[in-house]
Amino acid sequence: MSTPATSDEASRAGTGEILISGGTLIDATGAPGRPNPGVLLRGDNIQVVGPGAAEAAGADAERIDAGGRTVMPGLIDAHCHATFDDVQSNDELFFHRDPATAALVAGQNLTKMLRAGVTAYCDPDTLFSMGPSLRNAVEAGVVAGPRISTGVQALVTAVGGTAGRLIPDEGVVGYAQVVNSLDEAVMWTRRHIKYGADWIKIHATGLLPGRSGEVLGWSRDELRAVCDTAHELGASVMAHCRSPESVTACADAGVDMLLHASFMDAEGLEAVIRSGSALCPTFTFLANLADFGSAVGAGAGMEDVFRGEIAATAKMMRAAYDAGVPLLCGSEAGFALTPYGHWHGREAEILVNELGLSPMEAIVCATANGAIAMRLEGRIGTIVEGCLADVLVLDGDPLADIRLLNDRRRITEVISRGRRVDLSGPWPAHGPIPGDKVRNWAEQILTYERAYR
Ligand SMILES: [Zn+2]
Repeated sequence: MSTPATSDEASRAGTGEILISGGTLIDATGAPGRPNPGVLLRGDNIQVVGPGAAEAAGADAERIDAGGRTVMPGLIDAHCHATFDDVQSNDELFFHRDPATAALVAGQNLTKMLRAGVTAYCDPDTLFSMGPSLRNAVEAGVVAGPRISTGVQALVTAVGGTAGRLIPDEGVVGYAQVVNSLDEAVMWTRRHIKYGADWIKIHATGLLPGRSGEVLGWSRDELRAVCDTAHELGASVMAHCRSPESVTACADAGVDMLLHASFMDAEGLEAVIRSGSALCPTFTFLANLADFGSAVGAGAGMEDVFRGEIAATAKMMRAAYDAGVPLLCGSEAGFALTPYGHWHGREAEILVNELGLSPMEAIVCATANGAIAMRLEGRIGTIVEGCLADVLVLDGDPLADIRLLNDRRRITEVISRGRRVDLSGPWPAHGPIPGDKVRNWAEQILTYERAYR
């Protein structure tokens, strides 16, 4: 059989060599930062790390002098939504988008992530099921972007997720596929894998009118059926869990990665340890609401609620970390409070401030641990010989100030797949797209008193 023909010999990966010398090396294995002994990238491979790098480099190698700067692996954003386009409401997301525009816009947003130092990301659920298409387009070199591992859509029961009654009783809306029985849960798991899913996403908890907090909308049998089916077919499972009982139920069912795990209790932590699940708390969205929500007119009066959720959950995340549970960093990018390219490094800062991790420990969470989300453990997220060639050079020392990871002005080199990303030129923003936004009639209710007071 011959290999399929392509129109060009284009490759998304670098084919040459890059030699990075000088500065401080943070290899993200957990070893202390050390003077960079030399890093040689050859194509999409970290070829040599050590004094032999310079010697092994060919005459044609590109050379980067990292003197006075920091060399570290690219960020892995373990929880972001690449197809949502900084959305402001579920109404907008579910009913005001079209597939072709959404795909083109997503392509542009991938560039923002790359320029902010994200060289790999994991996307649970996507508009118009486009996750695998986006991943394949990047892999084929059609559009530039980070490495992608992806789901297709979130599986929700008719209880709904966080979108309440916008979730229909059956069928598809936005990022969600409704499943109404164990059989349907199994059927859609199989279909998503057929469509190209690396991950199956379960929206385990949702909001119900009149109830406080999120409730588990799935039976334990349904959860287990999805996990067993996915695992038999070689896919992994993640779940949105924002209640204590959902953490226990999902970990017991065999979910590989728990998103949020809000209000995890001692029983939940035991279940997570027993199952070997990873945790991706994704505090960034809550922290942005709590700290800056008022700046964009969001969550008025809710700051304390979000701060409370962070504090309660952080305590248990710390306990999980101490018990050896891998913590991953996710930004929840794709919402108006977490726009692409702006917040991918913030989770590490929150792990330092709220969990008391050292900056080095937080950097490992933001890089090496992300390999779990990419299903590339031992292959990505560290600067070790034989790993994939995703590397950043930072102007400054993130061990002294972890906030540097989230300041893209300080990222002077992004190397993705062994190729330097062009960081010059204007930020790739787009203008308004007709029909894309929802307009409210009013922010307030116009009572007689309000009119004539
Ligand atoms: Zn999410």
